[in-house]
Parts: sequence; structure tokens; C-alpha cells
Amino acid sequence: MSNFWNPLIKQLEPYIPGEQLDDPAIIKLNTNENPFPPSPKVLTAIEEEAKTKLQLYPSPTVDELREEIGNYYGLKKEQVFIGNGSDEVLALGFMTFFEPGKAIKYPDITYSFYPVYAKLYQLDVDEIALEEDFTISPESFFHSEGGVIFPNPNAPTSLYLELEAIEAILKNNSDQVVIIDEAYVDFAEKSAVSLIDSYPNLLVVQTLSKSRSLAGLRVGMAMGHPDLIEGLNRVKDSFNSYTIDRLAIAGAIEAFRDTAYFEKTRKEIIATREYFRRELEKRRFHVPPSQANFVLASPADIEAEKLFTELKQAGFLIRYFNKPKLENYLRISIGTKEQMTKLLHAIDSITEK
Ligand code: PMP
Repeated sequence: MSNFWNPLIKQLEPYIPGEQLDDPAIIKLNTNENPFPPSPKVLTAIEEEAKTKLQLYPSPTVDELREEIGNYYGLKKEQVFIGNGSDEVLALGFMTFFEPGKAIKYPDITYSFYPVYAKLYQLDVDEIALEEDFTISPESFFHSEGGVIFPNPNAPTSLYLELEAIEAILKNNSDQVVIIDEAYVDFAEKSAVSLIDSYPNLLVVQTLSKSRSLAGLRVGMAMGHPDLIEGLNRVKDSFNSYTIDRLAIAGAIEAFRDTAYFEKTRKEIIATREYFRRELEKRRFHVPPSQANFVLASPADIEAEKLFTELKQAGFLIRYFNKPKLENYLRISIGTKEQMTKLLHAIDSITEK
């Protein structure tokens, strides 16, 4: 704490990301990264760009990537915004669409960056309790004062909300922006992107960090009505014209072109998740039905925190949130089948002791 900080900065409580340990011996299942490397075509595109273009500024409007994503989803480039990871997109979204004095709604168990942004922008919040089984009751998100945000699938619960429920939330917040954070949607049923042309108040946020194996490249996007996208660009261009570097643009374009690699790795993770979930259930864990690249799991025969600590000692990094309602849950990212099998063996040797 320093007296040079302004009063707002003094009372901030920054987000704490999951640990990033570089030790290759550790099986890292704590930040929902993809266990597979990016498509080889992405790496070639990045290399080519690095060799020939780094002396030049990147495009401030990122048109080529916006067009590529537009083609993928059947949208115009005016309906697509690009940011430096979806965290940045979310931060800009909070600033553009939400305002102090009008409470925004988000679930009480959700992505822990939302309360951080709310504090940063001095927003009022109306935290909505999830149901006992962690599901979202759509009605509780109706008629917000200042807007709505939640992930779908929600994090860290992993549960997916059907598009009909999202439509009901959109209809009952027609004067407010509803942000659906789809960081994990490629592991789930359907994206809400299909609703964009019907709902001018819908902003869908996605990332290349999870399903496209590019957490290290930092690319995220928002899709919605051109007026929403223009608002985001106004804010972005008021603090930094070049948030996306040349390597990120080149790699991201190729990630959207190589649909075969994307489909293959995505399906493999979904299959491994189902395998892992069944195996955990055999071991008497409670595991809500995940539609993400992680599961939330509660062990019956050992305290979650104890299992977390012992797994760490055994070389497995997963996530434990010491938070109300989640005290006895662990969040485990889905790695390769081999990694998940090793984790199951480690769980067995800890619980059989
Ligand atoms: N939204 C949710 C729900 C997340 O879990 C994450 C990953 N921590 C993000 C957004 C941000 O991802 P990124 O900034 O890597 O795009």
C-alpha cells in the first residue's frame, strides 16, 4: 500500500490467477488449459509473420481476423470485436455497457474476475444465488437494473444453460446488455451466437485460450450487434490502438481456418471428460454434468482440501476454492486420457491409505 495510490486503487482486490508452475514433472490441471498444442498450421503462420513483419505495427482494426471469425459464425466483421484474451474483452465490456448506480446481476458462484471488474468500475452488484444443484434459475436474472453477465457453461460449476433460457433472460432485459461469457462453449451443446441477429442487447464473449489451445497467445472476441461492437471499439481506441500483436493475429486466423484440427482435439477432450467423470463417480465423487473442459467434483471419502494438498504433493495441480458452497469441491481441468488415468491412480492411492 502506498500513499501515492489513488483511493480507488487502494481498495482494489485484484484477481488471483491459478498457479503457473514451469516444472514439466507436474501434471497441471488447474487453469483449464488445453493439453494439446495448437494446430501446426498456427505455428507455421506465427513463424512466417515473425520472420517478415515484426518491424511493422499490427492492424489496429484487426479486420482480417474479424472477417475470418465472421465467416466461421456467419456474421459480418462489424459484429465482431477482438481483444487481448477474453479477460480484456470482458473488462472493456464492463466499462462500455455497465454503469455505477445501476446494479448488474451475476451468479453468486461464477468466474471470480466479475467482482474484481465491478470494484474497478465502482459498479453496484446484485449477486444471484444459484439453485442447490448449482443450476441457474433464468427468472432470477430477469429485469436487471444495469445488465447481466454469466458464463455458459458457468465456471466453476461446469453446467450449461439451454438457449431457450438465455432467450428468456434476453427478452426480460431488453433495455440492458446481457453478456454471455462462452469461454467453454466449444465443449458444450450450442453457442448463443445464433441469437445475435434477434437480440440487439446480446454480447457473446469467446476465447481462443481453451478449445483452440492458445492460452499463451492471448486472443479473445466479442460478438453482437454492430452498435455494441462500435462501443467496445470506442473504449479500446481510447486507451490502446494495438491490443493484438502481429503474431496473435496471424496465429488466430489460422486457428479458425484449421477446423479439422479443432474438431479432432475438441472431441477428444469431450470424450476424455466423460470417461473421467464416470471414473470419479465409480469412486463416489459427486460430479455435476459438465459441458466444459473441466469438472467440478466433490469426494465422499476425503475432504476436498486434503485431497487437493495431497495431490499437489504427488505432482498433480488442480484447483481448490476456499469459498462458501464450494468448500468440498475441486475443479479439475481435463488433460489427455493418459494424464487423467494417472490422476485417478493417484486419487486411489491417497484415498486407500
Ligand atoms: N471467462 C471465463 C469463465 C474463464 O474461466 C476464463 C479463463 N480464466 C476467461 C474468461 C478468460 O480467458 P482468457 O483471458 O484466456 O481468454
